[in-house]
Amino acid sequence: MDKITKLGIIKCENYIQENLYNAVKTVTEKTDFPDVSNKTVLIKPNILMDSSENSCITTNPELLRAVIKIVKEKGAKKILVGDSPGLHTSSFNAEKCGIKKICDEENVLWSNFLNNPKTVLIPNVNYKLPIAKDVLESDIIIGISKMKTHQLMYLTGCVKNFFGTVVGLNKSACHMAFPNRDNFSKLIVNLHEFIKPSYSFMDGIIAMEGPGPANGNPKAAGLILGSENDYAVDIAQAIICGYKIDQIPILHYAKIINILPEKIDCTILDYNNLIIKDYKSIPIRKKTKLISSLILPFFTRNKYLKREKKLTCPSFNLNNCKLCLRCVNICPAKALSLKNKEIELDTDKCIRCYCCHEMCPHNAIYVKSN
Ligand code: SF4
Ligand code: SF4
Repeated sequence: MDKITKLGIIKCENYIQENLYNAVKTVTEKTDFPDVSNKTVLIKPNILMDSSENSCITTNPELLRAVIKIVKEKGAKKILVGDSPGLHTSSFNAEKCGIKKICDEENVLWSNFLNNPKTVLIPNVNYKLPIAKDVLESDIIIGISKMKTHQLMYLTGCVKNFFGTVVGLNKSACHMAFPNRDNFSKLIVNLHEFIKPSYSFMDGIIAMEGPGPANGNPKAAGLILGSENDYAVDIAQAIICGYKIDQIPILHYAKIINILPEKIDCTILDYNNLIIKDYKSIPIRKKTKLISSLILPFFTRNKYLKREKKLTCPSFNLNNCKLCLRCVNICPAKALSLKNKEIELDTDKCIRCYCCHEMCPHNAIYVKSN
């Protein structure tokens, strides 16, 4: 008989604490929430960069508060909250996004992931990564991801949220070692299998659409999702945002290695009835273009691929650029540099990971196809 995975999706239209608390409580009651009593629990929100909660880049701090309250009520011995953003420096303290303030007010510990990370070998990809010590030492790990588009992976989700357990700039180096959607998905899924989180929520109250994960626009979706199986939540997100499961590289790889939930029981609302028809998603890039290019004569093919590459490389809106150099510092391929007071891109070096687009705080980098 198929194993049944419970998934809770509930309507919640705003970030008023009473509403959030009631919604989170119902979701935990209707799903297989882990036994946290007397355990050390690490909660992992999504803090891509420390930005205002109104930009919808990060997990909303009030949703974090509601989760902390529930975990406290269920008798956790110790609660920690932590994440490693894209450009993780020692001064990062999650202040702008309001998450540090919630930790202080709720009297739980903020975990600095830069403290004593441990390098581990990620199985099946044979790749070593430094993982935050508190992630490795906690009894229970709970994620709170944000419903968002993602230029490279189409959607951010519960599974990819745990990429933030890798500390510092090592995350951008992963893009060089796994430089396309398919093999990057392999890394993310195997990292997630290694971390083995116990439960994840998704903040889909005000989601992000358009050119996410940092430069998209807020989209009211009015939903909180939760399950002990992160893939169940990510499947629901894919359907709600108008994709098919196989179009999302992480879900596609998880399906190939047979780890998607066998049967999902939607215990509150059914995701098939929650599709957002006007959600502005990232268009799927068709691989058939590459296949058709292979039948072209050698010289034409090279020209074709070069043109294709140029088209999919990020572009710069220099009027918006404030020369903060975040993009230069994050680029794993060293394809960006400062020349004559402008950011210059070497399209031959660019691997189209879009880390620069993710990290630009001034909306000065865009991807043409969108
Ligand atoms: S991150 Fe954005 S604003 Fe900063 S230098 Fe790069 S393009 Fe300019
Ligand atoms: S320029 Fe941007 S998209 Fe290209 S490799 Fe560097 S970070 Fe990635």
